[in-house]
Amino acid sequence: MLFKSFIDKLFGKGSGQENEGSTLTQDGNGKKLMCVECKKEFLFESGEQQFYKMRGLTPPKRCPNCRSKRRRRR
Ligand SMILES: [Zn+2]
Repeated sequence: MLFKSFIDKLFGKGSGQENEGSTLTQDGNGKKLMCVECKKEFLFESGEQQFYKMRGLTPPKRCPNCRSKRRRRR
């Protein structure tokens, strides 16, 4: 059961560890996405992730830089 213990460790489940339910609400724990426009990696912050999830949106495909550029272009 190596895999299970790995999962348990990853999500802190099963073995009443010190932190309770803080795995999903960590701050400053973003996700790295690649921008389809400039092919650079950008950080999809956890706060943003929650915002997108709440609104049922799909994660952004462009970095904030390219997004604002597109928005400004007329
Ligand atoms: Zn970009």
